Amino acid sequence: MSSKYIFICGGVMSGIGKGITTASIGKILQARGFKVTAIKIDPYINIDAGTMNPTEHGEVFVTEDGTECDQDIGNYERFLDKNILDLNYITTGRVYKTVIEKERNLEFKGRCVEVVPDIPNEVIRRIEKVAKTEKADFVLIEIGGTVGEYQNLLFLEAARMMKLRKPESVIFVLVSYLPVPKIIGEMKTKPTQYATRTLNSAGIQPDFIIARSEYPVDDKRKEKISIFCNIKKENVISAPDIKSIYEVPLNFEKENLSKKILSRFNLRTRKRDLKDWGKLVEIIRNPKGKVKIGVAGKYFRTGKFTLMDSYISVIEAIKHASFYFRVQPEIIWLDTEEYEKKSAKKKLNKLTQLNGIIVPGGFGRRGIEGKIRVIQFCREHKIPFLGLCLGMQLAVIEFARNICGLKKADSTEFDPKTKFPVIDLMEEQKKNIKEKRYGGTMRLGAYRCVIKPNTISFQAYKTPEVFERHRHRYELNNRFRKDLEEKGMIIAGVNPEMDLVEIIELPLSQHPFFVGTQFHPEFKSRPLRAHPLFKEFIRKSLESKGN
Ligand code: GLN
Repeated sequence: MSSKYIFICGGVMSGIGKGITTASIGKILQARGFKVTAIKIDPYINIDAGTMNPTEHGEVFVTEDGTECDQDIGNYERFLDKNILDLNYITTGRVYKTVIEKERNLEFKGRCVEVVPDIPNEVIRRIEKVAKTEKADFVLIEIGGTVGEYQNLLFLEAARMMKLRKPESVIFVLVSYLPVPKIIGEMKTKPTQYATRTLNSAGIQPDFIIARSEYPVDDKRKEKISIFCNIKKENVISAPDIKSIYEVPLNFEKENLSKKILSRFNLRTRKRDLKDWGKLVEIIRNPKGKVKIGVAGKYFRTGKFTLMDSYISVIEAIKHASFYFRVQPEIIWLDTEEYEKKSAKKKLNKLTQLNGIIVPGGFGRRGIEGKIRVIQFCREHKIPFLGLCLGMQLAVIEFARNICGLKKADSTEFDPKTKFPVIDLMEEQKKNIKEKRYGGTMRLGAYRCVIKPNTISFQAYKTPEVFERHRHRYELNNRFRKDLEEKGMIIAGVNPEMDLVEIIELPLSQHPFFVGTQFHPEFKSRPLRAHPLFKEFIRKSLESKGN
């Protein structure tokens, strides 16, 4: 069959779950035996998400082939249980860069290069390349932003042009929001009508409207949307708020969405297999217990609101591992700057109430000393601890300072003049920084890690070699490896090609679970295949006291 394209755009406002909708539509088509892939289009000028602060656009997700991209790619990977690569991530910056490079190379054969059609054409070229490379039956294309804003117009233009060229192979889905203002007490459809009109003015008629709301959409409102938005009533899909994102595919199927999409493309339906997914949702709905996990970070404040998007893959990885043990995780945010104050002792003592603590990745000096104190507390009080990237680096710093007696040991990221740079830049990275080459120059993507036998990591992975994803500039300084090992730190994983430390541990005789990884295992955790290290961490957390 020739590839089919489903464009997904958002109406009314952002943050209503376009990414989860895209991933879930992918899931239900995949469950019918089709080959599915997904593309994320982000309208910003940035070439990738790597140079953005996570409080801007949430977590920076890293693909197997080393692209720093939008967190939605992570959602696609988790729902479709497959790796999504660099090609599937499109930004305005990437599109313009290619077109300008082509112009410089005389590839337009002397003609005037114009925003329309040359920019949309490049967008279409990229989309079709994904379809071809992956031999996909379905390509889902999520257009970031909300209809009506200037930024994503050229992408809608590309979608319109694609429909014109392949009318039988392209459909549109609008994910819209239906507010229920407290003071009125009724679900309102008008914003969705406006959004549809705006889409219409870009030459696009939605085939489906995913009606997001606090509550299910009733018949009366479906009818209204049908009439005013020019769409069949049965193609208005009710999508109320639910407890877990993993329920969304099942909810869509309650409205027979996959069948309706297939019929829209004149395709015959195939048998559906969502058994394992259903079992997972069953566990989520009926957990047999709870595990309390602290996450010590700093990227969650936005004005007066708390943002959890910055750590989304970490949260999901905790959930997957917890679901494996049929328990519900309770995640407690530890704002690390709070632990730097003199009066932090009481706060620290409260950490014994947790079953386990994760110190995730991060950049810059703010909050560092607080994190180090939390790590020290975990080490001394035998609280299961998992350090991810920065978390691992800080565990090394804490150990160097307090066990190896290397006073004021530090990372050169925080103290360039430290006497004991236990975490430091490699030569190549020094050059990048000197030449101000920041974008896309960290150690990125999957690298080999060889695991030492008889370690916690080996016990978890049950294999001597893994590939894990990276995103960092600094590394454990090999000059101090001996000092650390002599005092009992175990180098449990290394990358032999570059001779770099990938995993550190404390011996089981001293601590039930103290593991730090230079890579980010969270990026490879999937709902039905929890990551081995997270699984081992949760297993030990469940055994730990906590109260
Ligand atoms: N800031 C550290 C580095 O660049 C850690 C990065 C991270 O945690 N992803 O090496």
